[in-house]
Order: sequence, then C-alpha cells, then structure tokens
Amino acid sequence: MKVLVTGGAGYIGSVAVEMLLDEGHEVVVADNLERGHRSAVDQRAQLEVGDLRDRDFITGLMRRLKPDAVMHFAAYALVGESMEHPERYFENNVGGGINLVNAMLEAGVSRIIFSSTCYTYGLPREVTIPEGADTLPVNPYGESKLMLEKILQWYEKIHGLRPLMLRYFNAAGATESLGEDHHPETHLIPNVLRVPAGKAEYVRVFGDDYDTPDGTCIRDYIHVVDLVRAHVLALEKDLTGPLNLGTGEGYSVMQVIETARKVTGHPIPVRMAPRRPGDPPRLVARADRARAELDWKPVHSDLETIIRDAWRWFQAHPEGYAE
Ligand code: UDP
Repeated sequence: MKVLVTGGAGYIGSVAVEMLLDEGHEVVVADNLERGHRSAVDQRAQLEVGDLRDRDFITGLMRRLKPDAVMHFAAYALVGESMEHPERYFENNVGGGINLVNAMLEAGVSRIIFSSTCYTYGLPREVTIPEGADTLPVNPYGESKLMLEKILQWYEKIHGLRPLMLRYFNAAGATESLGEDHHPETHLIPNVLRVPAGKAEYVRVFGDDYDTPDGTCIRDYIHVVDLVRAHVLALEKDLTGPLNLGTGEGYSVMQVIETARKVTGHPIPVRMAPRRPGDPPRLVARADRARAELDWKPVHSDLETIIRDAWRWFQAHPEGYAE
C-alpha cells in the first residue's frame, strides 16, 4: 500500500515508517521537523517537510499522492506543556487534524489510523480501562485528541471516512536504530536513564501521595515495536472506532526506577517533587479488542525488555539524533 505517515520523523512515527517499509509498503512522510528529526526518517521513505497547520501544504500533498491510507502521528504530546499552553494543543492537534482530514475528503482518501491516547479517559473508574469507558479528559492534550476522534467519527457517519483510533498507553523502548529523543525530555524512562548516562544526578518523582500502593502514578508501558506492529496489522483490516493499545499491566514510577536500577546497575537517586498537573493516578488498558480483532499481542513489552532496549539505544546514541 501507499501510506502517508504524518509525524514520521517523531519517536513513534519513525518506527512505523521503518516497519512499513520493511513490510514492503511505499511510505511518504509529512513532518514539519519541529520536534522530529530528519535523520530518524528512513532513507527509503520520501520526506515532505511541511506543517499540517498549513492547509495548502497538506491539501496539495494529499491531492498529488492519493495514498491508500494515512497514519496520523503528527501532534504535540506532552501533558505538562498542555496544561501551560492549551492553545498550542488545540491549534496543532485539532486545527492541523482538521486540515488533514478535510484534505483526505477532497482527495477521496478514506482510511486513517489515528494516534490517540489513554488521556482521553481522564480519571477512569475502572482498574483496567475498556474502550467504552467514559471520556472526560483532565488535560488539554487528552481533550485535543478526543476532539479529533469525535470529528473523525462524524466524518465516518456523514462522509464514509474509515477511522481507526488507536489509544496508546505509555509508549517506550527503542529499536536498534530508532529511539526517544525529545528536547526538553519530559518522559519518565528517558529521564530515568539520563542518570546512569551521566547527564543528570537524580530523577524527580512527580508526586508520592497518590492513592496507589507506593503513592506514585501507575502507567501501562508498551514497547514502541509492539505498538507500531498494531498499526501494520490494522492496515490489513477495516476496523473503525477506538481501540486501546496497552499491555493490561501497570507499573508505578518507583517500579520503573527500580527496574532501571536493575538493568543499568546504577543506584539512580531520586528526589520527590510536587505532582505534575493533569496527571491521573492510574492508567492501565484493557486490550481485549486489540487481541480479538487485530489478532495482536504485545511480545516485547515486559518492563525489563522495554528499559533494556531504551538503555541500549541511549548508550549507542549518547547525543540522541545530534542535529
Ligand atoms: N514522571 C516523573 N518524573 C519524570 C517524568 C515523568 O515522575 O521525570 C511521571 C509522570 O508524572 C507520570 C509518569 O511518570 O506519572 C509517566 O509520565 P510520562 O511523561 O513518561 O508519560 P505520560 O503518561 O505523560 O504520557
């Protein structure tokens, strides 16, 4: 298939580009390179540098390409930033998303696989969250993703769009060549690994007074390779609606740090810090739909493998993509 990958220079998008190419698909990447890296884009892909907020850029590209499917990764994705700058999230994630889907409609492209998030759920009541749970986001990041999900669903009803919304839990880990390199880095596992890498003296733990067994937040960490595999499987199926991608297992911030100590052999000192605004205490997936309908199951996602792969990438790329 010919696949247009937005955000293909970013962390998850770049892994998707590589896997799609390895599976024999033709890939065109649209990325503004604001937060992604040119050198993360596989040489076999065609890179179109442009911004989804620029309607003419995406309309023209879509008209020229008429891809069989779009994988839409391009977005801002930081909870903390979204609590300080919600305007960026609505403008880029919602505004850019509207330009993208309107360009699809105009070009007669109907299949879209959208990177959504477990942050659409807000403060879930369930221990493991099914797709049918209430969606009441507690940060603008989650809200911006939910808004685009709703737009996609209206376009499905009215225009026959075929949107699959993949609600990611916490993507982590790396492939041999591709890993996580954000500036500034805000994610837990790369920040933890900065300590054994000699780039930080300690890791900050944002809140230890949550209603969880050790008081720190619980998340469902999923290996980026497993996550991306689900997208490739989804290309062959015609599923729509929301679909969770997580393992069903939750780990606390302190458990992640403990596992990183074991993997790296470094003591990794911690300092307690205030809660991060917008953080729900616990987000863990119920991934029944992915297993049953996509025939997907995570195979690289035990926490130790995730951290070991991330650590290997960090050691091989001490300066990240160094651009
Ligand atoms: N976190 C932390 N210290 C850090 C980075 C993150 O304690 O340096 C916590 C964060 O508050 C959240 C969890 O780790 O509870 C996962 O955060 P991350 O930013 O990795 O992923 P998110 O869940 O925001 O997508």
